[in-house]
Amino acid sequence: MHEFRYKRNDLYCENVKIRDLAEKFGTPLYVYSYTTLIGHFLKLKSAFQAVNPLICYSVKANSNLAILRALVDKGAGLDIVSGGELFRAKKAGCPAERIVYASVGKTAYEIEEAIKSGILFFNVESFPELKNIQHIARRLKKRVKVALRINPDVEPKTHKYITTGKLTNKFGIDFESARRIILLTRGFSHVEISGLHIHIGSQITTGEPFAAAITKIIGFIRGLKREGIVIEYLNIGGGLGIVYDREMPQTADKFAARILPLLKKSGLKIIMEPGRFIVGNAGILVTRVLYVKNTPKKKFIIVDGGMNDLIRPALYEAYHQVLPVIKGFGREAEAEKADVVGPICESGDFFAKDRVLPLVEEGDCLAVMGAGAYGFSMASNYNSRRRPQEIMVNKDKAFVIRKRESYGDLVHNESIPREFK
Ligand code: PLP
Repeated sequence: MHEFRYKRNDLYCENVKIRDLAEKFGTPLYVYSYTTLIGHFLKLKSAFQAVNPLICYSVKANSNLAILRALVDKGAGLDIVSGGELFRAKKAGCPAERIVYASVGKTAYEIEEAIKSGILFFNVESFPELKNIQHIARRLKKRVKVALRINPDVEPKTHKYITTGKLTNKFGIDFESARRIILLTRGFSHVEISGLHIHIGSQITTGEPFAAAITKIIGFIRGLKREGIVIEYLNIGGGLGIVYDREMPQTADKFAARILPLLKKSGLKIIMEPGRFIVGNAGILVTRVLYVKNTPKKKFIIVDGGMNDLIRPALYEAYHQVLPVIKGFGREAEAEKADVVGPICESGDFFAKDRVLPLVEEGDCLAVMGAGAYGFSMASNYNSRRRPQEIMVNKDKAFVIRKRESYGDLVHNESIPREFK
């Protein structure tokens, strides 16, 4: 469910016409709906009310400060994976005790900054990392809480690039090694293993893989208890899927119905790290048609947005619905198959392939739907393109939450050595 709808022939975000935003701010342009964003967060919160989880929104999905602040204001914590995300979390005003920090490759500098900030805990992904945290915490004279990220070896049935809970993936620690590490770490002076963490993948559309992983990990925690080791927190990660195409992902309520009984019975403090579920359908990318090109084999609709703005189709062959910002008066009937492609010098630069689309003309705007998660946050300056502007709509107001980059921004940190002149 989201707040992007046609009223008559115009696509709206809440009460604002997308065509007006495109005129005013130019394209390509990200547009987010505040109501959708907060609505998704609150749906999850209420579905899991029985265990009162700390919902740490996954910053990597969309790290704009306004989005972080909006969620933090509603009680969200944040799941971070880098020093940069810690910086953003603090800038957005997130209390440190609501921040959890994952990543297989935390640097010493990043670990130190996070310890000094007093985050709730690190999600630790290897024994060498744990030793490093102990070493740094001792130097800083701080005792830190950590959760071990377990790789439960379950199949989440999603794209291979967003599968993270199989033993062939680089993430987490297998059960047997985790048990050995937990026993060994009992002697660590500055690190306390107070939680276990799983994150099995992204865009998972059924509760089954979650239930399988949670069942495994709760069994493991019971085993530890028999050895006198008490675990306080269970972080079940993110990964909830959303509708992009014809998939039928579970609603928050259905997801809760499947896994709440397991969580309740465990008696553990629960943490969740959803990203896509909260922000995915809360954003679209608006792009303008530059040219329509017919070749002997294909029709190409060439638009001003590219894979640097939204890389998901190029990276995962991900499907995004593409809709006209203004429905053509009767032109829908003349729909034709076309590829919607960007201006970048790569054949992977596309938003849609062989898609039946209404006839569009130069200057028309298209909306690439479901672009709120892993859209702007994965955007780059490839081809020296300026990253797009971001707008947040709340009812009938539109706020610029990030300006379009300037050409100056592109070269801001570069310098030409004197001797080259
Ligand atoms: N937690 C961790 C550790 C992740 O790596 C990710 C995504 O990669 C997430 C949470 C968020 O996943 P999603 O956006 O699918 O909810």
